[in-house]
Amino acid sequence: MVRDLEKDLEICEAATPGPYVIESCQCGHPACNLVFIQKIRHSDGRLSPEDAQFIAEAHTGWPYAIQRAIDAEKEIDRLRNELEILQEQLQQNRCRD
Ligand SMILES: [Zn+2]
Repeated sequence: MVRDLEKDLEICEAATPGPYVIESCQCGHPACNLVFIQKIRHSDGRLSPEDAQFIAEAHTGWPYAIQRAIDAEKEIDRLRNELEILQEQLQQNRCRD
């Protein structure tokens, strides 16, 4: 599915500005490894709709954006190589004249 990166950016900008800080739960149970994200959670643990949407969309949007960046970098490399080959060919043709 194609994501709208402009819309994704708007979701990021609507969320509480970071950096977010992860803090351990202080319940005292030895097996507890749960955490809180400070700054965005309210005292009862609830989130604003903007922050909740940011987290939910990031779960699929972040890997999608990373993949798009990786694909774009590969394409840039391919185009740079192609440009280099064409420039070499152009140079060789000039030398023949
Ligand atoms: Zn706990």
